Amino acid sequence: MHPQLNPWAGDFFPASYSPLIKRLRKYGTANRIVASILGPMLDVPAGLRHLLIRLVLLNGTAFQATLADDRAFEAFVRQSVFGVWHPVGTCRMGDPADRTAVVNPEGRVIGSANMYVADASIMPRLPAANTNIPTIMIAEKIGDFLRKST
Ligand SMILES: Cc1cc2nc3c(=O)[nH]c(=O)nc-3n(C[C@H](O)[C@H](O)[C@H](O)COP(=O)(O)OP(=O)(O)OC[C@H]3O[C@@H](n4cnc5c(N)ncnc54)[C@H](O)[C@@H]3O)c2cc1C
Repeated sequence: MHPQLNPWAGDFFPASYSPLIKRLRKYGTANRIVASILGPMLDVPAGLRHLLIRLVLLNGTAFQATLADDRAFEAFVRQSVFGVWHPVGTCRMGDPADRTAVVNPEGRVIGSANMYVADASIMPRLPAANTNIPTIMIAEKIGDFLRKST
């Protein structure tokens, strides 16, 4: 929100969905028609787009006002938090002495001689960012390691 970071903060809105938008997740003819109307409506002049985002995504509130008020912000988080399809770490990387680790820092399954994992499952914890590029980085790094070690 700071002007030195983002002079165009007018377009700033959180990745949250109102109940109306959540209902649109179900596949079906009715939702397809509604989505085909709502989608192009976002491609309109900025002022109108802000109004639509406020009405449809934010239940009528300006997010700047929510951010400035701790109570409103807490209420917003409690109401709006939702999953964003980034499950990771089911096969986490760690020190071989760590009983919760599945692969070592080279991606090799601890206790095996030649089995490697190179995907989002080896992230030790959920990164504070999207997971696709970190997954590519993991693949590149373990791929490099395997190439050098053979
Ligand atoms: C709806 C959605 C939206 C997302 N949006 C973003 C985004 O905007 N930005 C972002 O950074 N990340 C996003 N992600 C997260 C990102 O897609 C994942 O973090 C990333 O794809 C993880 O890569 P992966 O290789 O670990 O797993 P996956 O990409 O799931 O790859 C696993 C592969 O294994 C295959 N497979 C499974 N079982 C078998 C089997 N028995 N034999 C052979 N093959 C098998 C599957 O078909 C699949 O191709 C999104 C995820 C979802 C679901």
